[in-house]
Amino acid sequence: MEWVDIGVNLLDAAFDKDREAVLERAWAAGISQMILTATGLDECTAIQAQCATDPQRLFCTAGVHPHGARHWNSESANDLRLLAQADCVRAIGECGLDFNRDFSPRPQQLKALEQQLELAVELGYPVFLHEREASDTLVGILRDFRDRLPAAVVHCFTADRQALYGYLDLDLHIGITGWICDERRGTHLQPLVRDIPAGRLMLETDAPWLLPRTLSPKPKNRRNEPAWLPEVASMVAACRGESLELLAEHTTATAREFFRLV
Ligand SMILES: [Zn+2]
Repeated sequence: MEWVDIGVNLLDAAFDKDREAVLERAWAAGISQMILTATGLDECTAIQAQCATDPQRLFCTAGVHPHGARHWNSESANDLRLLAQADCVRAIGECGLDFNRDFSPRPQQLKALEQQLELAVELGYPVFLHEREASDTLVGILRDFRDRLPAAVVHCFTADRQALYGYLDLDLHIGITGWICDERRGTHLQPLVRDIPAGRLMLETDAPWLLPRTLSPKPKNRRNEPAWLPEVASMVAACRGESLELLAEHTTATAREFFRLV
Protein backbone atom coordinates (compact mmCIF):
# COMPACT_ATOMS: atom_id res chain seq x y z
CA MET A 1 0.00 0.00 0.00
CA GLU A 2 1.14 3.52 -0.75
CA TRP A 3 0.06 6.62 1.13
CA VAL A 4 0.46 10.35 0.58
CA ASP A 5 0.71 12.49 3.75
CA ILE A 6 -0.73 15.81 2.57
CA GLY A 7 0.25 17.80 5.68
CA VAL A 8 3.69 17.57 7.29
CA ASN A 9 5.39 20.43 9.16
CA LEU A 10 8.79 18.88 8.51
CA LEU A 11 10.83 21.99 9.25
CA ASP A 12 9.42 22.28 12.74
CA ALA A 13 12.15 22.38 15.39
CA ALA A 14 10.78 19.10 16.80
CA PHE A 15 12.48 17.39 13.83
CA ASP A 16 15.78 19.28 13.96
CA LYS A 17 17.72 16.43 15.52
CA ASP A 18 16.58 13.56 13.30
CA ARG A 19 14.82 14.88 10.18
CA GLU A 20 16.49 12.35 7.87
CA ALA A 21 15.56 9.43 10.13
CA VAL A 22 11.95 10.69 10.24
CA LEU A 23 11.86 10.65 6.45
CA GLU A 24 13.40 7.17 6.29
CA ARG A 25 10.78 5.82 8.71
CA ALA A 26 8.04 7.43 6.62
CA TRP A 27 9.23 5.81 3.38
CA ALA A 28 9.59 2.48 5.19
CA ALA A 29 5.99 2.82 6.46
CA GLY A 30 4.63 3.10 2.93
CA ILE A 31 4.45 6.87 2.57
CA SER A 32 5.27 7.41 -1.10
CA GLN A 33 5.15 11.21 -1.16
CA MET A 34 4.43 14.05 1.22
CA ILE A 35 3.39 17.68 1.07
CA LEU A 36 5.33 19.95 3.42
CA THR A 37 3.08 22.63 4.86
CA ALA A 38 4.27 26.23 4.69
CA THR A 39 2.74 28.56 7.27
CA GLY A 40 4.64 31.77 6.47
CA LEU A 41 6.61 33.38 3.67
CA ASP A 42 9.79 33.45 5.76
CA GLU A 43 9.99 29.64 5.85
CA CYS A 44 9.19 28.94 2.17
CA THR A 45 12.79 29.10 0.99
CA ALA A 46 13.97 26.57 3.57
CA ILE A 47 11.04 24.26 2.79
CA GLN A 48 11.80 24.43 -0.92
CA ALA A 49 15.45 23.62 -0.22
CA GLN A 50 14.28 20.54 1.70
CA CYS A 51 12.07 19.51 -1.25
CA ALA A 52 15.07 19.84 -3.57
CA THR A 53 16.83 17.06 -1.64
CA ASP A 54 14.20 14.53 -2.84
CA PRO A 55 12.23 16.04 -5.74
CA GLN A 56 10.28 12.86 -6.52
CA ARG A 57 8.86 12.52 -3.02
CA LEU A 58 8.86 15.93 -1.31
CA PHE A 59 6.52 18.72 -2.38
CA CYS A 60 5.16 21.75 -0.55
CA THR A 61 2.68 24.57 -0.23
CA ALA A 62 3.48 28.29 -0.13
CA GLY A 63 1.37 30.72 1.84
CA VAL A 64 0.51 32.49 5.08
CA HIS A 65 -1.38 30.83 7.96
CA PRO A 66 -4.21 32.86 9.55
CA HIS A 67 -2.13 33.09 12.75
CA GLY A 68 0.44 35.07 10.76
CA ALA A 69 -2.11 37.14 8.83
CA ARG A 70 -1.20 40.21 10.89
CA HIS A 71 2.13 40.25 9.05
CA TRP A 72 0.42 40.29 5.62
CA ASN A 73 1.19 43.61 3.92
CA SER A 74 1.22 45.31 0.53
CA GLU A 75 4.34 43.35 -0.51
CA SER A 76 3.10 39.93 0.53
CA ALA A 77 1.14 38.98 -2.57
CA ASN A 78 4.12 39.79 -4.80
CA ASP A 79 6.51 37.91 -2.53
CA LEU A 80 4.21 34.89 -2.53
CA ARG A 81 3.79 35.03 -6.30
CA LEU A 82 7.56 34.70 -6.70
CA LEU A 83 7.92 31.94 -4.06
CA ALA A 84 5.10 29.96 -5.68
CA GLN A 85 6.96 29.69 -8.99
CA ALA A 86 9.19 26.85 -7.73
CA ASP A 87 8.29 23.50 -9.24
CA CYS A 88 7.95 21.81 -5.83
CA VAL A 89 5.13 24.20 -4.83
CA ARG A 90 1.84 22.42 -5.52
CA ALA A 91 -0.69 24.56 -3.65
CA ILE A 92 -1.21 27.99 -2.10
CA GLY A 93 -1.50 27.75 1.70
CA GLU A 94 -1.90 27.00 4.33
CA CYS A 95 -4.22 29.96 4.46
CA GLY A 96 -7.64 30.43 5.95
CA LEU A 97 -9.46 31.56 9.07
CA ASP A 98 -8.91 30.71 12.73
CA PHE A 99 -11.61 32.24 14.93
CA ASN A 100 -10.74 29.84 17.74
CA ARG A 101 -7.41 31.31 18.73
CA ASP A 102 -7.69 34.67 16.92
CA PHE A 103 -3.91 35.21 16.92
CA SER A 104 -4.47 37.76 14.13
CA PRO A 105 -7.38 40.24 14.03
CA ARG A 106 -10.22 38.86 11.92
CA PRO A 107 -10.21 41.68 9.32
CA GLN A 108 -6.56 40.88 8.64
CA GLN A 109 -7.27 37.17 8.42
CA LEU A 110 -9.96 37.90 5.84
CA LYS A 111 -7.69 40.17 3.82
CA ALA A 112 -4.77 37.72 3.75
CA LEU A 113 -7.08 34.87 2.79
CA GLU A 114 -8.81 36.76 -0.02
CA GLN A 115 -5.54 37.93 -1.52
CA GLN A 116 -4.14 34.38 -1.41
CA LEU A 117 -7.28 33.05 -3.07
CA GLU A 118 -6.89 35.72 -5.78
CA LEU A 119 -3.32 34.56 -6.31
CA ALA A 120 -4.35 30.91 -6.52
CA VAL A 121 -6.88 31.86 -9.18
CA GLU A 122 -4.26 33.86 -11.08
CA LEU A 123 -1.67 31.04 -10.95
CA GLY A 124 -4.18 28.21 -11.40
CA TYR A 125 -3.08 26.53 -8.15
CA PRO A 126 -5.20 24.53 -5.71
CA VAL A 127 -5.51 25.88 -2.15
CA PHE A 128 -4.63 24.27 1.19
CA LEU A 129 -7.07 25.72 3.73
CA HIS A 130 -7.02 25.98 7.52
CA GLU A 131 -10.30 26.62 9.33
CA ARG A 132 -11.16 26.68 13.01
CA GLU A 133 -14.60 27.84 14.21
CA ALA A 134 -15.04 29.87 11.05
CA SER A 135 -16.77 27.52 8.63
CA ASP A 136 -19.76 29.78 7.87
CA THR A 137 -17.50 32.70 7.01
CA LEU A 138 -15.13 30.49 5.00
CA VAL A 139 -17.98 28.94 3.00
CA GLY A 140 -19.29 32.43 2.23
CA ILE A 141 -15.92 33.59 0.91
CA LEU A 142 -15.22 30.42 -1.05
CA ARG A 143 -18.62 30.63 -2.72
CA ASP A 144 -17.40 33.81 -4.46
CA PHE A 145 -14.12 32.19 -5.57
CA ARG A 146 -15.07 28.60 -6.23
CA ASP A 147 -15.85 28.85 -9.94
CA ARG A 148 -12.39 30.26 -10.60
CA LEU A 149 -10.36 28.04 -8.21
CA PRO A 150 -9.05 24.74 -9.61
CA ALA A 151 -9.49 22.92 -6.26
CA ALA A 152 -9.25 23.45 -2.50
CA VAL A 153 -8.80 21.17 0.50
CA VAL A 154 -9.96 21.97 4.02
CA HIS A 155 -7.04 20.42 5.87
CA CYS A 156 -7.38 18.88 9.33
CA PHE A 157 -11.16 19.00 9.21
CA THR A 158 -12.52 18.97 12.78
CA ALA A 159 -15.91 20.69 12.47
CA ASP A 160 -19.46 19.36 12.37
CA ARG A 161 -21.79 17.81 9.80
CA GLN A 162 -23.21 21.14 8.67
CA ALA A 163 -19.73 22.49 7.92
CA LEU A 164 -18.75 19.27 6.13
CA TYR A 165 -21.81 19.42 3.91
CA GLY A 166 -21.15 23.11 3.22
CA TYR A 167 -17.66 22.25 2.00
CA LEU A 168 -18.76 19.21 0.00
CA ASP A 169 -21.51 21.28 -1.64
CA LEU A 170 -18.74 23.56 -2.90
CA ASP A 171 -16.96 20.47 -4.24
CA LEU A 172 -14.01 20.93 -1.88
CA HIS A 173 -11.64 18.20 -0.71
CA ILE A 174 -11.38 17.22 2.97
CA GLY A 175 -8.17 16.37 4.87
CA ILE A 176 -8.50 14.07 7.90
CA THR A 177 -5.82 13.86 10.63
CA GLY A 178 -5.33 11.85 13.81
CA TRP A 179 -7.90 14.17 15.44
CA ILE A 180 -10.32 11.35 14.55
CA CYS A 181 -8.32 9.03 16.87
CA ASP A 182 -8.85 11.36 19.86
CA GLU A 183 -11.43 9.87 22.23
CA ARG A 184 -11.80 13.23 24.03
CA ARG A 185 -12.61 15.55 21.15
CA GLY A 186 -12.58 13.65 17.85
CA THR A 187 -15.30 10.99 18.10
CA HIS A 188 -17.85 13.20 16.29
CA LEU A 189 -15.70 12.75 13.17
CA GLN A 190 -16.02 8.96 13.17
CA PRO A 191 -19.53 8.75 11.65
CA LEU A 192 -18.87 11.84 9.49
CA VAL A 193 -15.98 10.41 7.46
CA ARG A 194 -18.44 7.97 5.90
CA ASP A 195 -20.10 10.92 4.18
CA ILE A 196 -16.95 12.06 2.36
CA PRO A 197 -17.04 10.57 -1.13
CA ALA A 198 -14.02 8.72 -2.46
CA GLY A 199 -12.23 11.25 -4.62
CA ARG A 200 -12.72 14.04 -2.09
CA LEU A 201 -10.95 12.48 0.93
CA MET A 202 -7.23 12.83 1.72
CA LEU A 203 -5.17 11.87 4.79
CA GLU A 204 -2.54 13.76 6.75
CA THR A 205 -0.64 13.59 10.01
CA ASP A 206 -0.09 17.35 10.59
CA ALA A 207 3.14 16.13 12.23
CA PRO A 208 4.74 16.95 14.63
CA TRP A 209 1.30 17.71 16.11
CA LEU A 210 -1.73 15.48 16.63
CA LEU A 211 -0.08 12.20 17.57
CA PRO A 212 -2.88 9.61 17.11
CA ARG A 213 -4.05 8.79 20.63
CA THR A 214 -4.85 5.23 19.56
CA LEU A 215 -1.15 4.49 18.98
CA SER A 216 0.18 1.81 21.27
CA PRO A 217 2.78 1.97 22.62
CA LYS A 218 2.95 5.75 22.48
CA PRO A 219 6.36 7.22 21.56
CA LYS A 220 8.00 8.70 24.64
CA ASN A 221 8.45 12.12 23.11
CA ARG A 222 4.72 12.31 22.15
CA ARG A 223 5.80 13.68 18.78
CA ASN A 224 3.81 12.78 15.70
CA GLU A 225 5.57 11.89 12.46
CA PRO A 226 4.52 10.89 8.95
CA ALA A 227 5.28 7.21 9.62
CA TRP A 228 2.11 7.18 11.78
CA LEU A 229 -0.19 8.02 8.87
CA PRO A 230 -1.31 4.37 8.60
CA GLU A 231 -2.63 4.66 12.19
CA VAL A 232 -4.91 7.51 11.07
CA ALA A 233 -5.81 5.47 8.01
CA SER A 234 -6.79 2.43 10.11
CA MET A 235 -9.30 4.49 12.07
CA VAL A 236 -10.69 6.14 8.93
CA ALA A 237 -11.00 2.78 7.15
CA ALA A 238 -12.81 1.23 10.14
CA CYS A 239 -15.21 4.19 10.35
CA ARG A 240 -15.95 3.99 6.63
CA GLY A 241 -16.38 0.22 6.66
CA GLU A 242 -13.70 0.04 3.99
CA SER A 243 -10.54 -2.06 3.67
CA LEU A 244 -7.19 -0.34 4.24
CA GLU A 245 -6.24 -1.32 0.67
CA LEU A 246 -9.26 0.39 -0.83
CA LEU A 247 -8.74 3.51 1.33
CA ALA A 248 -5.07 3.66 0.31
CA GLU A 249 -6.00 3.28 -3.32
CA HIS A 250 -8.50 6.13 -3.52
CA THR A 251 -6.92 8.60 -1.06
CA THR A 252 -3.51 8.23 -2.72
CA ALA A 253 -4.97 8.65 -6.19
CA THR A 254 -6.90 11.71 -5.00
CA ALA A 255 -3.82 13.31 -3.45
CA ARG A 256 -1.71 12.64 -6.54
CA GLU A 257 -4.30 14.26 -8.75
CA PHE A 258 -4.93 17.20 -6.40
CA PHE A 259 -1.23 18.06 -5.98
CA ARG A 260 -0.23 16.88 -9.50
CA LEU A 261 2.25 14.33 -8.12
CA VAL A 262 2.29 12.09 -11.19
ZN1 LIG B 1 -3.82 24.10 9.88
